[in-house]
Amino acid sequence: MRVKLVAGNWKMQGSLGGNPALLKALACGAATLESVAMAVLVPAPYLFQTQTLLSGSPCAWGGQDVSEEENGPFTGEVSVAMLQEAGCRYVITGHSERRARHLESDQRVAAKASAAIAGGLTPIVCVGETLDERERGETLQVVFRQLDAVIQGVGVHRLANAVLAYEPIWAIGSGKSATPEQAQEVHAALRSRVSSSDWVVGAGIQILYGGSVKPSNALELMRLPDVDGALVGGASLVANDFMDIGRAAATA
Ligand code: PEP
Repeated sequence: MRVKLVAGNWKMQGSLGGNPALLKALACGAATLESVAMAVLVPAPYLFQTQTLLSGSPCAWGGQDVSEEENGPFTGEVSVAMLQEAGCRYVITGHSERRARHLESDQRVAAKASAAIAGGLTPIVCVGETLDERERGETLQVVFRQLDAVIQGVGVHRLANAVLAYEPIWAIGSGKSATPEQAQEVHAALRSRVSSSDWVVGAGIQILYGGSVKPSNALELMRLPDVDGALVGGASLVANDFMDIGRAAATA
């Protein structure tokens, strides 16, 4: 039985003054949920504030990106060791916004995931297709290409220490999530792709759905057999909405 994970991606949002109210609400809310794990992925400058406010609570935290390099002349990048010092459990790798804006290749995403795992962090590895790719019928081809690079770069056994997130790019921030049928089809395909390399890893790996998850659609998505939680953008900035999604995952 896979435990569900609901993770909030704040993206480049938040403020030193405004974060405490949200983080304290999450710390209290997460304590009321027994069967679901909660986490927030915050901008790097807020990691230590998040650590201070969430330490001792059941809500975990993490970064939104990590360097595959250990240290050195990599201006603007954040290392695994830095995330460890901030008490992170998770880090997102390969979010579509980074793949698109920072030209991150499948191999680079795999190297980042591998570095995270080597440092004891759990990467949340994002895969997903554009609207054009979906309309051309290339969805599985695209997500398999992204996943295969990670299986190859990380090694299927070490993938047991990762989380996958299926995030159709056309659903991110658009208000229009994938239908349950679309989400289940891709999640099941991703799981069987991992299973074909290692059945145990495939059966156990958490696969989150991301893309316009909100309180009104969370329950039907969380009930799908191969959906093991959600990666939530916009709705994770509103404490009540994020906790409602957590409750949907707990009751699904
Ligand atoms: C995301 O950016 O990972 C995301 C899923 O965003 P949203 O929930 O706002 O679509």
